[in-house]
Amino acid sequence: MSDYTVIIDHGLCNLCEDCVEVCPEKVLEYNRSEEKIHAIRIDDCNNCGACVEACFLAAIDVVKSPEKTREEFIESLDLTEQRANTLDELLEKYGHPDADKTAIPIEEVLTLLQFETTEELDDWLLDNYDKTAYFSGKELIILNSLPEL
Ligand code: SF4
Ligand code: SF4
Repeated sequence: MSDYTVIIDHGLCNLCEDCVEVCPEKVLEYNRSEEKIHAIRIDDCNNCGACVEACFLAAIDVVKSPEKTREEFIESLDLTEQRANTLDELLEKYGHPDADKTAIPIEEVLTLLQFETTEELDDWLLDNYDKTAYFSGKELIILNSLPEL
């Protein structure tokens, strides 16, 4: 399964072959018997966009393959679940069952949950984690019960 799919509007295409000429990977070819441009080496496409830019009729587009997008979506779901489990394990490691909050070193959270920055972690916590969490100094604080207002 290739990462990318080349879509050509054969109704618009005037077979000028500009896209064929600019493609650095020789993905495209003009098939004279069918009078159509074909992506004959789609596995080599690197989504550079040169063909799309070259086509003044906007007859060609390159998109991510639907199957690939689906695979990536499933992978991201797996990672979300994996991160939630890892954070629960850290809560157990650092938290006392009776404590209403748990402090975990941020560095450890970032490494184990595979985030580069605290901003990424913060976004993920807001979108995916059902417990209240905030940063305090070098620690991530997770509240095991909602604070009294
Ligand atoms: S996106 Fe780049 S590599 Fe892919 S077909 Fe177009 S020109 Fe070739
Ligand atoms: S550049 Fe556009 S019009 Fe020309 S051959 Fe490619 S798709 Fe067709």
